[in-house]
Amino acid sequence: MHDFTQELAGLAAQSLARTRHVVDGPQGPVLEVDGQACLSFCSNDYLGLANHPELVAACVSAAAQYGVGAAASALISGHASAHERLEQELAAFTGLPRALCFSSGYMANLGIIGALVGAGDTVFLDRLSHASLIDGARLAGAEFRVFPHNDTARLEQVLARCKSRRKLVITDAVFSMDGDLAPLPELAALCERHGAWLLVDDAHGFGVLGPQGRGSLAHAGLCASRSPHVLYMGTLGKAAGAAGAFVAGHAALLEWIMQRARTYMFTTAHPPMLAAAASAALGVIARDEWRRERLRELARLLRQGLDGLPWRLLPSVTAIQPLLVGDNAAARALAQRLRQLGIWAPAICPPTVPRGTARLRISLSALHTPAHVEQLLAALRHAAGAPS
Ligand SMILES: *Cc1c(COP(=O)(O)O)cnc(C)c1O
Repeated sequence: MHDFTQELAGLAAQSLARTRHVVDGPQGPVLEVDGQACLSFCSNDYLGLANHPELVAACVSAAAQYGVGAAASALISGHASAHERLEQELAAFTGLPRALCFSSGYMANLGIIGALVGAGDTVFLDRLSHASLIDGARLAGAEFRVFPHNDTARLEQVLARCKSRRKLVITDAVFSMDGDLAPLPELAALCERHGAWLLVDDAHGFGVLGPQGRGSLAHAGLCASRSPHVLYMGTLGKAAGAAGAFVAGHAALLEWIMQRARTYMFTTAHPPMLAAAASAALGVIARDEWRRERLRELARLLRQGLDGLPWRLLPSVTAIQPLLVGDNAAARALAQRLRQLGIWAPAICPPTVPRGTARLRISLSALHTPAHVEQLLAALRHAAGAPS
C-alpha cells in the first residue's frame, strides 16, 4: 500500500503544506482565530452580507418553512419554491432570460462546461482562469487551449484557425488573484464573429461591480440578453454572503444545461434556506449603494497610505487589492509579520500566481472602516521598518 507520509514530508519540505486556522463567531472584519481576535483581510464577503440580519432572518425563517436539507436532487424533488423564486430574481437581476442554481460555483463550472462541450470540441481558456474552469474543461474531454492573459489578439488567431464544431471561450470576469478585469466587450464581439460561446465567471464581480451590483457584464455596458452566445455565471457565497451559484443566459441554452449538467443532476439540491438567504441578499445588494462606495473609498485610502512604502498595489477597481511583494519568502515573511501584529492577509505564491509576483491578497469588505485600513497601513509601515 502506498505510504503518503513521505509525500506529506515532501510538501512540508517545499513549504507547500497548508494548515487551517479555527475561526469562531460571526463573519465580519474582526474574526476570532485560534482563540484570538484578528483583523481579517482575507474574506470574500466583500459587501459584508454573510452575517447581515436580513440574510440570517431569511435563512432561519426558511429553515422553519422547508427544513434544513433539500433531501433530493433538483430534478427529483429537491427544487423548492425558494429556488424557483431565486432563479426568477437572478434572471431579472442580471437582465437575462433565465437562471439556474447550482450548489456551488465549483459544481456550476464543472457542470456548465461539460454540458456545452465534449470530445471533438475546443475550449479556449485565459491563462489566469480559476481552477474550477480548468477542471471543468479537462473533465469535459474537449481539446483545450490556453491563451495569454487578456490577450484578445492571440485568442482571435487561434479561434480563426479552429475547425471544431463547438467552440467555448472561458474567462474570469474579475481575476481572483489580481483583481483586474477581462475585456468583456472585445471577448463578446470576438466570440460572436467566430461562432463561439462565451462563459463569463463573475465570482468576484457579482454584487460588487455594475449599477446596483449587477455584475461585470453590466459594468462593461454589455446587454447580455442581446448576445445569445454569452453565458453568465455568478456565485452566491462571496459578495452575496450565502452559498451556491447560478448560471444565466438564453432559455434554450439554460434548458440544455439543466438537462445535461451532471453536477446539477447527480447532487443533492442547494438547501432551500440558502436560496432564501440569497434572495434576501439580492435585495440588499441592489439597495445598499453605500457598500460599493465604501469599497472604493477604502481602496483609495489604502493606495494613498502605501505611498513611500516598498510595495505597490496591482491596479484593481474591485475589492481584491493585491499587494505585490515579488519574492516568495518575502511575501510569506510579510504575511507572518502582519499576523504577529493581529492582521490576517494571506500570502499568495507561485504556482497560484506567476513566478516573481508573490503577493498579499488583501480583500476589502464594506464593513471595514477607514480605521481598519489605517491599522493595516500602520502594520505595513512597521514591517517595512518605516516610522509609524
Ligand atoms: C470562488 C470561485 C469559484 C467557486 O465558487 P464556490 O461557490 O466557492 O464553489 C469559481 N470561480 C471563481 C473565479 C471563484 O473565485
